[in-house]
Amino acid sequence: MTKIAFIGLGNMGTPMAANLLKAGYQPVVYDIVPHTVEQLAEQGAIPAANVSEAVRDADVVISMLPASQHVKELYLGDGQLLAHARKGALLIDCSTIAPATAKEVATEALGRGFEMIDAPVSGGVGGAVKGVLTFIVGGNADSLEKARPILSVMGQKIFHAGEIGAGQTAKICNNMLLAIQMTGTAEALNLGVANQLDPVALSEILKNSSGGNWTLNVYNPYPGVMEGVPASNEYEGGFLVDLMVKDLGLAMETAQASESRTPLGALAEELYRGHSTAGWGRKDFSSILKAIEKE
Ligand code: NAD
Repeated sequence: MTKIAFIGLGNMGTPMAANLLKAGYQPVVYDIVPHTVEQLAEQGAIPAANVSEAVRDADVVISMLPASQHVKELYLGDGQLLAHARKGALLIDCSTIAPATAKEVATEALGRGFEMIDAPVSGGVGGAVKGVLTFIVGGNADSLEKARPILSVMGQKIFHAGEIGAGQTAKICNNMLLAIQMTGTAEALNLGVANQLDPVALSEILKNSSGGNWTLNVYNPYPGVMEGVPASNEYEGGFLVDLMVKDLGLAMETAQASESRTPLGALAEELYRGHSTAGWGRKDFSSILKAIEKE
């Protein structure tokens, strides 16, 4: 059985590692927050006390960290992952980070005899729990084929976007569109409710009309409309506003570097940044509805 190390056991990493366990793998797990490691150990994972313990015997290392700086520190920082992993191991970074950082880390890893792909995901915490994530992969096609059986346990669809970093570029395009859609959906629901419409009835109408979109289908931002989504749990869990701010920042950097116009992306970034500053950074991104209600 392939030996897997899984690093970064947050909202996404924990259910992804749990699905590896259910499929019969026994991942070695590590996070800087010890209780997340203990939780997975109770389900049968092997706990590691540090990065070197986690990766030293692994054939495959998966990381799921917040942002570029965490990934850079994990892989390239003093005495970290690349110094301790077994040569030839396949490294899969599933975090959403800057394409330039993905390229920098992978170039160093390939130069030191590892295989590496960027494999950011789409599908949210719900998709991670159900094992139906979409993986958007950048890197060598042979490395992707090696990763495929493992990614298939955690996801349903796997796309090869191109060379190293291309997975990140595609993911950033997706999240910019998601932020615009979520804001638009929140705006439409708020407008309807302010004009005496029932949010449940309005959601059903929009879902089945030309305004229908993913946020209405599986991630309704209006409290009480849909069960099991962050909006119905005081915007807890899910995808943090601060992570969306990070992704919109990456989209704006990428747009600037390629001289692409992204007027709605820029507006979404401004709205999400303001929402974070107003104290919503650690809540789910569908809480943008609250920023709109307030205006
Ligand atoms: P999170 O903040 O819940 O989890 C990140 C985990 O990484 C935390 O447990 C943290 O302690 C750990 N960590 C940070 N630095 C570490 C280090 N050096 N070593 C070990 N562990 C470390 O974030 P998340 O929601 O799980 O998201 C992870 C990534 O996936 C982000 O890049 C995010 O943009 C992306 N993403 C999230 C969602 C979502 O719905 N939450 C969806 C798609 C993509």
